[in-house]
Amino acid sequence: MRRPSLNSREVSSSRKSRRIFAVNGVAMCVDCVEKEYPNRGNICLENGSFLLNFTGCAVCSKRDFMLITNKSLKEEDGEEIVTYDHLCKNCHHVIARHEYTFSIMDEFQEYTMLCLLCGKAEDTISILPDDPRQMTLLF
Ligand SMILES: [Zn+2]
Ligand SMILES: [Zn+2]
Ligand SMILES: [Zn+2]
Repeated sequence: MRRPSLNSREVSSSRKSRRIFAVNGVAMCVDCVEKEYPNRGNICLENGSFLLNFTGCAVCSKRDFMLITNKSLKEEDGEEIVTYDHLCKNCHHVIARHEYTFSIMDEFQEYTMLCLLCGKAEDTISILPDDPRQMTLLF
């Protein structure tokens, strides 16, 4: 299986969204996914699994639905953090830990997602009726 080298991944990924605390002692499994932390643009999943990136369980070699366990919601400095684990439905092998955050920064709502399986994404939505960013987005 083709796997990107650690070095090229470090360089291309945004350091801002790489928050190591998500690992939390849970072994994440690079053998079960097609691509580690794929870039998903602004698609932030608050629940569910990105099944397209699941190549099959490396332990039992089944490609089945995934279970979601250990779902928790906590608040830290005004930021809401949702975390959960993706598990193989067949053998309960932990495939990845999913992290989703939501916060309000000035007049923007910020969403981020970080998951070995589902990828990384960031989105900001203005809570004002007139989004000043619309101008700069139209290029
Ligand atoms: Zn695995
Ligand atoms: Zn399995
Ligand atoms: Zn995920």
